[in-house]
Parts: sequence; structure tokens; C-alpha cells
Amino acid sequence: MKIIDTAAKVLEKGYVCDHCLGRQFAKLLSGYTNIERGRHIRTVIGFALDSGEKLKIDDVNLQDLKFRDFKPKKKKVPVCKVCDNIFDTIPEKAKRVVDNLKDYEFDTILVGARLSGNLIEKEEKQWEASGIEFCESIKSELSREIGQSVTSAMKKDLDRANPQVTVVYDFEEDDFEITVNSLYIYGTYKKFKRGIPQTKWPCSKCRGLGCESCEWTGKQYKETVEELIAVPVIEASSGINSKFHGAGREDIDALNLCGREFVLEIQEPVKRSLDLKKLEKEINKINKDKVSVENLEMCDKAKVVELKDKKADKTYLAVVELDAPVKKEDLKKIDILKGKTIKQQTPERVMHRRADLVRDRKVLDISAEFVSSKKIKISVKGEAGLYIKELVSSDGGRTKPSVSSVLGVGAKVVDLDVVGIE
Ligand SMILES: [Zn+2]
Ligand SMILES: [Zn+2]
Repeated sequence: MKIIDTAAKVLEKGYVCDHCLGRQFAKLLSGYTNIERGRHIRTVIGFALDSGEKLKIDDVNLQDLKFRDFKPKKKKVPVCKVCDNIFDTIPEKAKRVVDNLKDYEFDTILVGARLSGNLIEKEEKQWEASGIEFCESIKSELSREIGQSVTSAMKKDLDRANPQVTVVYDFEEDDFEITVNSLYIYGTYKKFKRGIPQTKWPCSKCRGLGCESCEWTGKQYKETVEELIAVPVIEASSGINSKFHGAGREDIDALNLCGREFVLEIQEPVKRSLDLKKLEKEINKINKDKVSVENLEMCDKAKVVELKDKKADKTYLAVVELDAPVKKEDLKKIDILKGKTIKQQTPERVMHRRADLVRDRKVLDISAEFVSSKKIKISVKGEAGLYIKELVSSDGGRTKPSVSSVLGVGAKVVDLDVVGIE
């Protein structure tokens, strides 16, 4: 019998505990823990020996069984030769983890194990003797056992894909690392004041270290959309830092009056059950006339990728100054850009962070309004990625055609607002 033979090999020399015996058969029958499998198989071995069957078993493995005929030698049971009885220490280890997690608010957790080289070697030695056909690794059993102890003590759910907290228990050091995973909040924001970049922007002189010109803040701009929104949320969640993931961004000097989607990531939050309605009000009150948020809701990490992949058409309102006068009827020439595919070489101003290549972007709609002979207003709906300032100015001929080229005069955007994102 294959099972008996395998079990006999495991128990042939030295003591092996029920966990380590049972783990050898982990892939057989469900609904049992390895310790139960080990106990059952040890009992069957006992039946066989008591019936007179000859099996080479170290008697140290038979001390718990009450035989009728078979007479094992009395032996003192030492520690398990595979695991050093490590499973007996799990409740105490789990308790230490639980004590350290008490201050954090979370619902889902994943617990993993890191093993010593010594333990892995002993396991491999065991496998050499008994084979690996139905077995599970000790690492997997230890992870599960400590994970179950922690989750049941704290009444939390195990989550492999998106745990809010991750614990790795290092069995060699007998210590553990807790990673509190980020909190993700989805929403839309509007920007009512020019000169505020979307995300943190290090001082160009000192690269963020702090210098005289940035008044030792390390920041190029005093305020960012990110910070204006994040500070109250970091405070409410007792997080340590934030990251801002926007569905694209408007220029520093452009307003955004239509609402842009974003995900605010709060790193290492202590609290997760936030009153988002209240936070929304608070953010909007503090940042009145600068930035506002709407539709805040909890989301997960996947939403960040979704936003980054989103290609939205945008509508802009631009105030344009011309370097030579035009007549009102000249503005009809701009209609030619409607539906036109624009060849846009990477603008001079973003060359430092984008590859220099020519992109095709469509102007979906465009209309112009006469303000004065040297000032017009333009409303443009463009395909995602169309650079509006360059569509107007031609960027020294790098964008073709442009408002400047069709009017035959130099043109420059002086005010730019995002008014629609879809
Ligand atoms: Zn063991
Ligand atoms: Zn500086």
C-alpha cells in the first residue's frame, strides 16, 4: 500500500510530528488539517503493527498509541526532526502579530512566512526519503497556520489579491514585518486658480533639498492640487504620505472648471473608515476659490490603472492674443481646422520629459469669438493628447496646421481653461 509505505518511510528514523507526517499527504482528502491527517495515518500504522504486520518504524513515533499485542520500546519523544515543533509556537507568534496590529483599522489581511535555510534543508531531506507525490511545503502550511490564527483572533478576512495589511513572519529571526497598504480614494476635482500645478514639483534650483530661492521648502510652487486635497485626508486617516493619480493634467496656468477624475493614494493609513462626505466639505471649505472635489468614494488600486489608461477628449477655452490685427471675418478661416488631424511634434516646453516625435491628434471641434482686433477667444474640443497652446501658436512650426498658420499672424494663448472632459 502506497500510503502506508510512504508513511513508514517518514517514520522510519527519528520522531516526526503529526503536522509533518500529515503534510506528506496534504493533497489527499479535503476537509482535514495536516495535523488531523498525520494523526489518522499514525493510527492506521498502529493498526497494521498491532495486527502483526512488519513495518520498519522508529518506536519513538508510536508512544501515544495503546497497542494490544505489539510492544514498542518505551522512548522519550524528542522534538520533530523536520520542524523542531515549530507549529507549537504559532499561537504565541500570532499573538505578538495581533498585538502590533491593534492600532490599525482594516478588514482584510494576508500573512506570509519566511523560513530559515535550515528548515528548508530539513524538509528537503525528508522529501528525499519519502517522495513528494501528495505533499505540501512547510512554508505553505506555516503561512496558512499563522494566517488563520491571526485572522480568527482579530475577526478579519484573508485576502490574497488586495489585502489592506500584509504581514510577513520571519521564522528564522522570529520577528515580523507589517506593511499597511495604501488607501485609495476616487473623486473628481476642479481648479479655480491659475499657477497651481497638479502634483508636487521640486524646486528647480535645489531639486527639492531646500534653498534660499524656495524659502527652504524644496518646492517650486507653494501649493499643489495634490496637497490641497490630500492634507485633510492624511490628517483624518493618520497616514504618512500621499500620491496623486490624475486622469491627465491641466497646465499649471490653466483652470479646470469641469472636473477631472483622480485617485488619491494615502500611504500607511491608520484609519480607513473615513466620512468622505464630511471630508469633501472640509476640503472644499479650506480651498475655496482654489480647488474643489466631488464624488469622493473608496476604490482600489486597479482604479489607478483604469484612470491612466483612459483617453478622454477635452474641451478648452483659450484667450488668445495676436501679434497683428485681424478682422472679425478673418476668424472664419479657423473653421478649416474643424475635424482636421494635426501633426504635432513634441512641444518645446515638454521636451525634457517626453520623447521627441510627431503625433497625430484630431481637432474635433473649434470655434472662435472676436474680442478685439488683436484678441480672440477660442473654444476647442480635442482628442486626448492634443496640445492646445501649440495648436494656437504653432510652436515655431512644430505643430501643423495651427491657428497662427491659418490666420497668418503670430498667436499666443494667454488664458487656458479646461471646460469639458469626456
Ligand atoms: Zn514537525
Ligand atoms: Zn530650492
